[in-house]
Amino acid sequence: MSGTIVGVLGLQGDIEEHLAALDMARSRLGVEGESTLVKGLEDVKKIHALIIPGGESTVIGALSSIKGILPALRERIDNGLPTLGTCAGMIMLAKKAQDRVVGETNQTLIGALDITVERNSFGRQAESFEADLKLNLPGSGSFHGVFIRAPSVKSLGEGVEELARLDNNIVAVQQGRIIGTAFHPELSGSTLLHEYLIGLANPYGK
Ligand code: GLN
Repeated sequence: MSGTIVGVLGLQGDIEEHLAALDMARSRLGVEGESTLVKGLEDVKKIHALIIPGGESTVIGALSSIKGILPALRERIDNGLPTLGTCAGMIMLAKKAQDRVVGETNQTLIGALDITVERNSFGRQAESFEADLKLNLPGSGSFHGVFIRAPSVKSLGEGVEELARLDNNIVAVQQGRIIGTAFHPELSGSTLLHEYLIGLANPYGK
């Protein structure tokens, strides 16, 4: 099989949903390629793009640390690996995270994306919701955002652009080839973000 290899960090969270969205995105784009689960160092080395799924960021951080893959992930992302972090995945990418209720969490993060996130920014499970957003990416008009115990972005470092806002909360950002969303695009029915990621990994088409 030719085309790009997109890795989905396969330790915890909604991994299957991203794999399905990637298949759909490739078929809509008419490109070949494959997806692989990232669980160890060999996987980190072979991928052309990465998705860090939503789930529970403290668990994803702890498991990544046990697997010994954090420094390698950080290095590849710093060197331009196209990366999409959704919800807990965006938290993992952030330089700094705090929780709306408990404050400082001292959790393990990758730290490649220069933002501070507030975890559980919209409340706990009962406050999960859906909302249509304006997403500032090529080809995107309105995007259906699914928010599940979602974070928001409290501050942006230099070189980080806001991609979407919900009321006064920043809910999607981009820093070079890194994209973070507070919502779950893999549950939205739209594959725009997955297509965009594949495009970043394979800028010359098929
Ligand atoms: N609240 C979770 C966390 O802080 C994120 C939830 C999600 O990924 N849907 O890790």
